[in-house]
Amino acid sequence: MRKIQKGDRVILLSGDDRGKEGVVLKVNPSSGKAIIEGINFVKRHHKPTKKSPQGGIVEKEAPVHFSKLLVICSKCNEAVKTKTIILADGYKTRACKKCGEMITNVAK
Ligand SMILES: [Zn+2]
Repeated sequence: MRKIQKGDRVILLSGDDRGKEGVVLKVNPSSGKAIIEGINFVKRHHKPTKKSPQGGIVEKEAPVHFSKLLVICSKCNEAVKTKTIILADGYKTRACKKCGEMITNVAK
């Protein structure tokens, strides 16, 4: 089970935005990367188009590798490691390694 999922509250562990929190907007399992709202902006230069005749610089969130992210446990209220647990009905979910709280997803 992927440790980072859409809707998770995560914290960035490295880079210029180290320590910043955000919500995962999108995950790309094949590249192992996620886009997090408000984190890891990169400037992209755009050529002039009909829509924006001046072109210019657009800031956009760049994908971050899962290894640079930790999920925030709502109970501990800090970045934690997660483990996979299997519920009684066989459904797999993630739980905080520290307190055992299930990591629930805000974007369901
Ligand atoms: Zn916890």
